[in-house]
Amino acid sequence: MNLNELTEFVKALGEKPFRAKQLYQWMHKNLAASIDEMTNLPGRFRENLKENAAFISLQQADVQISGQDGTRKYLFMLEDENVIESVLMRYKFGNSACISSQAGCRMGCRFCASALGGFVRNLTPSEMLDQVYRIERGIGERISHVVVMGTGEPFDNYDALLRFLTLLSDENGQNIGQRNITVSTCGIVPNIYRFADEKLQITLAVSLHAAFQEKRERLMPVALRYDLKELLDACKYYFSKTGRRITFEYALASGENDSASDAEELSRLLSGINCHVNLIPVNPVKERAFTASGHSFVLAFKNKLEKNGINVTIRRELGRDIDAACGQLRKRYIENAGRTAVHSPIGQTIDALEHTDRFSRTDDTKNTGRQVEVMRSSSITDIGMHRKMNQDSVYASDAPVGNLPNLYLVADGMGGHNAGEYASRHTIETIVSSAGDSPHTRPETILEEAVCRANKELLAMAADHPSMWGMGTTIVAAVITKDKIYAANVGDSRLYIVNDGICQVTRDHSFVEEMVRRGEIDRESARNHPDKNIITRAVGAVEEIETDLFETELKTGDKILLCSDGLTNMVEDFEIYNIIKEQEDTARAAEELLHAANRNGGRDNITVIVIDPFSDRA
Ligand code: SF4
Repeated sequence: MNLNELTEFVKALGEKPFRAKQLYQWMHKNLAASIDEMTNLPGRFRENLKENAAFISLQQADVQISGQDGTRKYLFMLEDENVIESVLMRYKFGNSACISSQAGCRMGCRFCASALGGFVRNLTPSEMLDQVYRIERGIGERISHVVVMGTGEPFDNYDALLRFLTLLSDENGQNIGQRNITVSTCGIVPNIYRFADEKLQITLAVSLHAAFQEKRERLMPVALRYDLKELLDACKYYFSKTGRRITFEYALASGENDSASDAEELSRLLSGINCHVNLIPVNPVKERAFTASGHSFVLAFKNKLEKNGINVTIRRELGRDIDAACGQLRKRYIENAGRTAVHSPIGQTIDALEHTDRFSRTDDTKNTGRQVEVMRSSSITDIGMHRKMNQDSVYASDAPVGNLPNLYLVADGMGGHNAGEYASRHTIETIVSSAGDSPHTRPETILEEAVCRANKELLAMAADHPSMWGMGTTIVAAVITKDKIYAANVGDSRLYIVNDGICQVTRDHSFVEEMVRRGEIDRESARNHPDKNIITRAVGAVEEIETDLFETELKTGDKILLCSDGLTNMVEDFEIYNIIKEQEDTARAAEELLHAANRNGGRDNITVIVIDPFSDRA
């Protein structure tokens, strides 16, 4: 809340308006971590606050301190037990905090560890602010600069970002000058225009990473949506409105984007734009195939840009002796602790003083008045051992999505020129958004309509972009209520129930499955049939899509598995059964399934969601 909103809030509590200023100072200037620390507020007012507001403060779960340069990498735990990363960098000009704007990220940049676990949820303005406040409190020194460059795409969480920036630069709070704040985007063009029109004095950093459109599409799926020309036009507009020089980030990966022709093309693209290029040798991420360009390549690249009149620096690598790459500390923590990322619906935010216990055991959904059980799911997606890109997408929300009590989706895309990746991701985004907006209450109706809308959107996209002709995706969706599971299916991604045995609930829409149904081959022959990957239905294939819908009773002890065929082609059903039975924890089960598929050859992308509907019902 800003000071005006806080004043209204304080008045509504029956307190004098001047108390709002005191409260605001405690929160934003004195950086109090609890209401009890606000010692000059009357005890009665503090009790009143505790009853009517929740004071959110991040918990420090881990910190790594670089012995080389004092860089500190923090892992903060949010109220819902998701974890985020923030970094303190120490420069001669002052202390700079790099903060996250989302838990996870859905942009899927290929060299980024933050994208590996997918998107979890947006951060609230207070969760962004508290990263700065916690660091400042911890070191006892002022933070003079802030970069929004950690996990997440800030422009995918635009409204919260804007409120955060306003509070951060407020003279009654930390008063960090706008010129000392940088916001980094992977290139969400409409929000660059929107941001320009806010007429702030904030530096815009754009992750470019490739000067050729096709190469950029391969590295950054966002480029499929907004091409280089659109992006650079938006950057020029930003400069024209703010007068702020644009920073272009360019991560150099060996043999990928570091050649002389890449440097030439980059110079050509940026010529005439008031900008600065930051070259960053890419941080190696174990799950990704990229390695950093050698020093001589980095220097040669820099020299070529300079010769062509482009301002360029090589970014000093801080914290090399700790988990430096964005997202790695968080990923390691989740892996080591066997934790499950707690997914919540896209776009859902909670403001500082409006916290509700969204993850309590029974949660009134407001819309329907239904009681919703808490579930624990774990999702994971992996490129496998042979594919060059991951065309699978996954979404898992244990929390309500519109009128649905939860929602789980796996999609396996197909199509050249990155179209498969786009198809699966866009289908999932459309289904989530359609379900979120749906006035219906029956899960089957909501799912069927959502798949239908995704189908229409893919067809329309392909009609406008010849390079996307032929793209499509499978989809398997699940919604779990107190005693039932509802599933929707198109293609050959599957849903299983595992309990005393393993039972495939969905039916594959594949060429060999139809041969099995017609009695032409048996199941065993189907497993190794050369045409087993030919599917007969896909989202984005025909105008009138037919979605199979299933409704099944749940029994105590049931576990649910949704997966792409990258798992089922590599791991036999009995092996899947054994893994899920042996691993009580859904995160470990998901990881074990993934490892089994890769151990057996990992020929395709692999995606799994393991759900334990009974985890909190004991
Ligand atoms: S680089 Fe940024 S935008 Fe891209 S996936 Fe990582 S966090 Fe998201």
